[in-house]
Amino acid sequence: MFGFSSLYRHARFGSDSGAVNAIENYLNPGTMEKKTRDYAFFYRCAEDMTFRLNPDEIRLRAAAARSLSSPCKLCPRKCGVDRPSGQRGYCGAGPVPQVASVIPHFGEEPPLIVGGGAGTIFFSRCNLSCVFCQNHQISQAGIGSLITAEELASKILDLQNEGCCNIEPVSPGHHLPGLLAALAVASDQGLGLPIVYNTNGYETPEALDILDGIVDVYLPDLKYSSDEEAMRYSDAADYVATARSAILKMHSQVGDMVLDEDGRAVRGLILRLLVLPGNVSGTLENLTWIRENLPPSVTISLMAQYAPLHRASQDPLLNRRITEEEYDRILDFAWDMGFENAFIQDLESQESGIPDFRSVKPFEWD
Ligand code: SF4
Repeated sequence: MFGFSSLYRHARFGSDSGAVNAIENYLNPGTMEKKTRDYAFFYRCAEDMTFRLNPDEIRLRAAAARSLSSPCKLCPRKCGVDRPSGQRGYCGAGPVPQVASVIPHFGEEPPLIVGGGAGTIFFSRCNLSCVFCQNHQISQAGIGSLITAEELASKILDLQNEGCCNIEPVSPGHHLPGLLAALAVASDQGLGLPIVYNTNGYETPEALDILDGIVDVYLPDLKYSSDEEAMRYSDAADYVATARSAILKMHSQVGDMVLDEDGRAVRGLILRLLVLPGNVSGTLENLTWIRENLPPSVTISLMAQYAPLHRASQDPLLNRRITEEEYDRILDFAWDMGFENAFIQDLESQESGIPDFRSVKPFEWD
């Protein structure tokens, strides 16, 4: 699995801050009763959570999502094509969900892989075209199979039966009607796991309104702090304001991360920042924005796994991995900014294998 560790395990973060105690809860969730009243409150809530969704309500949300797909404005591209009739817009998605892989997955942050791992659903196609996309086989080349809501519901329930600790759709926004239809069927048949919404952050407020009350944990990226870089590397000239606004809305829905007694994330926001070479990702600027717009208790996840894949190998700035010096600068900055909850991906994660979605098991460590 990727080497997510916690801030306090980093050599220079080892001793004295209150942040250390907060972080320790990720590894020792049994100590949560020592924490603040807020933690205690959510802890009680967690005991009552059954994660049973109301199928009728989800069907209403699925209908609302379908109405956003004709003409399509499911994402900020707002292509306006008639998706139900088979027209395709920027993402290339059709009227039926397309899925590349449905697997228990252990490559996520620790509270997302408790027990049997994250129950991931890797959707095909994407509304961004990142030149460095690790999943380009499915996001841009379109590997994957068409699947009905009933078939997807069956696979979701298989993940639950295999012991996965959540259901985690990955890049699902352009397939939202199909995902919700599947969740309705699965809920009819006993689905009872937290829903983790893994997104590139390029979402509309309307789509997020539909997800309100369905998603338990939001797992968005914040990829850039400059629209110039966002345009050059992901073909999205309005990414920064759009993603930042979406992240604030996500946090307003679910708040800070909450763990249950097993250390599993059952609610909240985990904000991912993939560090790109040469600060192309604007991580320092984004950390500043986060501190200015979200509470210090918000959970960030700093990621070092970047590799010059796909078209990035031909880019003069992105054709290398990040250096230890570059990464340390980000970690020092995050520490100095007073973040209380952070996951730090080990630099060694750069050596982790690259997924191959032509395989039944795309990730070598799963
Ligand atoms: S979901 Fe796809 S078709 Fe719809 S607006 Fe976004 S990119 Fe265009």
